[in-house]
Amino acid sequence: MMKKIFFYIFFVSNICFANELPDLGDYSETIIGAHEEKIIGTQILQQAHQSSSILHDVEIEDYLHNLTNKLVNSSDYSGPGLKFFVVNDRSINAFAMLGGVIGLHTGLILSSNSESELASVISHEIAHITQRHIPRLMGKLQRDSFKSYLGLGLALLLARSNPELAKGALTASQALGVQTVLDFTRENEKEADRVGIEILHKAGFDVRGSIDFFKTLQKGNQYSIGATPSFLRTHPITSERISDIENRLTEYPYKQRLDDPSFHFVKGKIKVFLQDKKSIKKQLQSNLKNKTYVNELGERYSLAYAYLLNENFSQALEELKWFKNKKIKNPMIDQLNIQILLKKDDKDKAYKAIKNALKEYPNYRAFIYELAEYLIYKKSINEAIKFLQRYSQIFNSDPNIYRLLAKAYSLNEKRTLQYESLAESFYYSYNLQEAIIQMDMAVRAKDGNFYEKSRVEARLKELQREKEIYEISKANL
Ligand SMILES: [Zn+2]
Repeated sequence: MMKKIFFYIFFVSNICFANELPDLGDYSETIIGAHEEKIIGTQILQQAHQSSSILHDVEIEDYLHNLTNKLVNSSDYSGPGLKFFVVNDRSINAFAMLGGVIGLHTGLILSSNSESELASVISHEIAHITQRHIPRLMGKLQRDSFKSYLGLGLALLLARSNPELAKGALTASQALGVQTVLDFTRENEKEADRVGIEILHKAGFDVRGSIDFFKTLQKGNQYSIGATPSFLRTHPITSERISDIENRLTEYPYKQRLDDPSFHFVKGKIKVFLQDKKSIKKQLQSNLKNKTYVNELGERYSLAYAYLLNENFSQALEELKWFKNKKIKNPMIDQLNIQILLKKDDKDKAYKAIKNALKEYPNYRAFIYELAEYLIYKKSINEAIKFLQRYSQIFNSDPNIYRLLAKAYSLNEKRTLQYESLAESFYYSYNLQEAIIQMDMAVRAKDGNFYEKSRVEARLKELQREKEIYEISKANL
């Protein structure tokens, strides 16, 4: 029995409905414009980030970000940068949403046997976005059912831990004629498969990744348990879809591709996240002893990480020696070494390791955070501020850099700058409400110079305006 993995979550808005109801032809461009899509995209991200199941791990995010960028650059996409978030959920899933937002489950990453398999799923989702499938789908729906689709999307996104809630939302949507949607999406699935394969090929991946991934799904996976929601069961990967892809693949030459070691390390990390730290340690030890693993790199990284979490520091360091002996260099290995040293309170050694790692990988965010934390801990506050300011120019939407800046400013008792940075940190974590509260405190702090004062005042107005726009669009949903 095949499982259906790809599905949409529908987030729709009808804010420009009143004046622009289209008569005939292509609805998509008139029902929702780029501006509305952006607002909805931000709303989705706000909702997602309120959920505790969102995974915040800078190394996993950076890996996926680089992979996604590679694929987007090989696609026709020309809008603002695509956004994505990772849901820590062992079920296999990926979904494209309005506003250029892609959601990925850790279960999907873990079950991919190669980078090309994972890239094939992301390419498929990017294709849904470049082909504007969701706005086009909206054109086929009745206005009244929009709200229900919004509800369906939210339920599926946020209530994964509560299947009953999701079931309720599904029943409601079925009453509103989901069949229309399914008929429409079958065509879309075909198109997304076709476009996705082109993206995969252009980006230098093995196009067979797409069919390999279907096979991976058929085999099932030890990490993917639990019942498939009825919505997915009614929307399967059909044999027609598979043979369509297989035919298409004959047009492409055979290509062997070596996976980036980071792919295996990311999987190794997720494996530890998804299980109890004691039992995973035992399992990994036995896998390595009996050589029952898919990839040794990933398995060894995973075990070293499990040792760290179990506070078996010397065993963790011992495990890392294996990589050194094999001359495998990777920032994730360096970062693991740093984390072990910090945890066992070997601060001087850790500091040296951070400095060296940053020299080799100057834009690796994990190292930037570590060095800033270290400087703050050493009370080298001015140095920390200078360092973080430089990086806030490069990563100007990174909430962690702003959070660390706020910490450093607070130790220097610079209140205006402290609240301003904290506000930006909340803003880029998609918490607009708290961002406004903090920016308001920045405006009211008395210690800013003229330039800083006018900057925070202008920014507060901007944030308030953004909130007004969201309120209006929400009220119109
Ligand atoms: Zn799809």
